[in-house]
Amino acid sequence: MEKRVIGIDVGGTNLRGALVGPDGKIINRMKVASDADQGIEAVIDNLVRLIKNIGGGEDVSAVGFGIPGIIDFKAGIITQAPNICNVNNYPIRENLRARLGDAVPVIIENDANCAAVGEWWMGAGKDVGSLVIITLGTGVGGGIVLDGKLWRGADGMGGEVGHMTIYPDGAKCNCGNYGCLESYSSATAIRRMVKEVLSDSSSQTALGELVEDEDPGRIPEAVMKAALEGDRAALGIWEQFGTALGIGMASLVNILNVEMIVIGGGVSQAWEMFIDRVLAELKRRALRAPAERVKVMKSVLGDDEGIIGAAYLALNVGKEL
Ligand SMILES: [Zn+2]
Repeated sequence: MEKRVIGIDVGGTNLRGALVGPDGKIINRMKVASDADQGIEAVIDNLVRLIKNIGGGEDVSAVGFGIPGIIDFKAGIITQAPNICNVNNYPIRENLRARLGDAVPVIIENDANCAAVGEWWMGAGKDVGSLVIITLGTGVGGGIVLDGKLWRGADGMGGEVGHMTIYPDGAKCNCGNYGCLESYSSATAIRRMVKEVLSDSSSQTALGELVEDEDPGRIPEAVMKAALEGDRAALGIWEQFGTALGIGMASLVNILNVEMIVIGGGVSQAWEMFIDRVLAELKRRALRAPAERVKVMKSVLGDDEGIIGAAYLALNVGKEL
């Protein structure tokens, strides 16, 4: 019987999981609400139910979890996860083992790290040894795979590309610092830039009407629509977005000389709004050889990259990855 594992993407809204074979193919998938507002125990109940339903009575050799936050993968502890009931130092592996039994190893990892592994194993980077993934969502996440190994760093915090300083005196970031990549190339950043445009009475823009009733997560889509209609303010926002991303990527390419940078996350749907600016900035700032070497790709697996990456880590449990 071939080895099968479960990979799970733990989100603040939904828990999405899949039964995955050793070839990386999804055999069965499911999604349930996280109920994160009801506390971590409710999330654990939902996870256990999800795992039992996905497994469907079949033997599962391990379960991997991608979790948004700071994860101590060795100790099996969620150090900090603001989107999951704001838990701190929560021993999730121990609590899951108590519910699932000792026979099934549990692996936990940061969600962006899982996304990096997923794209490297089965996605855009399946033919390369080293890549960086940048996930553009509410914030900016990142993960690094070097020569087929996930680079976690000494504290599991490696790959936090969203908090590279791009502009020393730039806009304030959620991390408390100023001018991070996340303050220019995320959905949150787009919202800030829209507000700035609207507070300037001299600017002529249709953004006011477009974003009025939009839920904040949909603002990038509205700004994309306005840009496609030629709205100058909207085009300016995407230019700032792409410039910051290109500056950040030039540093990554100079430091790591990776073969590929994968861009994922919800805001990557607006690819054509920023990619020309990104590539121009990258070419202008990065050293010639690494800039010519690197391929910049859109995520291939999309929402599945975290699940597939978590499954890979589960399949390789016990090996050093
Ligand atoms: Zn920051």
